[in-house]
Amino acid sequence: MSADPIAIARALIRCRSITPEGGGALDYLQDLLAKAGFAVRRATFAEPGTAPVDNLYARIGSKKPNLVFAGHTDVVPPGDEKAWGHPPFAGEVVDDRLYGRGAVDMKGGIACFVAAALDHLAARGGQPKGSLSLLITGDEEGAAVNGTIKLLRWAAERGETFDHCILGEPSNVEVVGDTIKTGRRGSLNGTLVVNGRQGHVAYPERADNPIRGLVTLIAALQAPLDEGSEYFDPSHLEFTSVDVGNETVNLIPGRATARFNIRYNDRHSPAALKALIELRAKAAAAGRVHYVFDWQPSNAEVFMTKPGPFIDLAVAAIVEVTGRRPKLSTSGGTSDARFIKDYCPVLEFGLVGQTMHQVDESAPVADLHTLTAIYRRIIERYFG
Ligand SMILES: [Zn+2]
Repeated sequence: MSADPIAIARALIRCRSITPEGGGALDYLQDLLAKAGFAVRRATFAEPGTAPVDNLYARIGSKKPNLVFAGHTDVVPPGDEKAWGHPPFAGEVVDDRLYGRGAVDMKGGIACFVAAALDHLAARGGQPKGSLSLLITGDEEGAAVNGTIKLLRWAAERGETFDHCILGEPSNVEVVGDTIKTGRRGSLNGTLVVNGRQGHVAYPERADNPIRGLVTLIAALQAPLDEGSEYFDPSHLEFTSVDVGNETVNLIPGRATARFNIRYNDRHSPAALKALIELRAKAAAAGRVHYVFDWQPSNAEVFMTKPGPFIDLAVAAIVEVTGRRPKLSTSGGTSDARFIKDYCPVLEFGLVGQTMHQVDESAPVADLHTLTAIYRRIIERYFG
């Protein structure tokens, strides 16, 4: 009898694991994986100012190569639970759809990989040809400081090495098999402060209005950053807030602030990007606007897993199961792949992302079976 991804997904959805709460999701996985012969270890990470979070590492086999699946059992809050047609933590299946918070992001994806791994092991007498591992965190949707980044270091300190990683985030746009994510853009946040001189609005000649200078700089910084690259869309700078904080109608403020975010591609390093932005501001200011930049620390650098045998075998497995040739994409926000890429090549492939983080998040039951079949073929081809 083959493992049932729907039953596993339903059990996981019933755990109320809103970051940083574990809700029993990792206990459930530990039990399931240990019964199949995995050595399962847990690690709780903490740091001042953040809630401690529980994580799990499971491995079966001791030989190379070690194929690791990465995922998160934590979920975003459901919002108003009364707005849901199907309760967010019930794991209901209605009209061949599985409902619940995490159905696609990403308890469903974890369930599919676990089912595929159990089936693969059962067919091979309980042992893989190399090693099969799972890195499962409870801190992805939150601050992501007590999760994958520390779990990877923790595993490395214990001599664990990874050869290739599949991250089970919902990568597909319309149907299972349409998209593999092979990289992600970087993300950088900055604040621009323009300093002027406060004064009476009726006597502007005695003041220096920083809003004028800020508008000049904002206009200059919105110029295109590049035209994209072979694997990436153009980089993009977007202002997210403009603040003066002035409650008075007859006062020219003394300072004006703007915040912005840049999603950048592989044509830039963070340092070069900052230098480019500061150069553009300097040219626009022409010595007349007094400003400073404050760059927030970032742990989201651009990365790309280059086409090669690992991506090829995933593509082949998807074609074999669905008849679809997936697009290789680097779009979307950041994910834990930004941390994994420092340890081994990583690709992202999971369910269809359409309903993630929404009310009545759900996945067709058929999609979970398709994804399980694809993961199984990836595992078989990998250890071929
Ligand atoms: Zn996710």
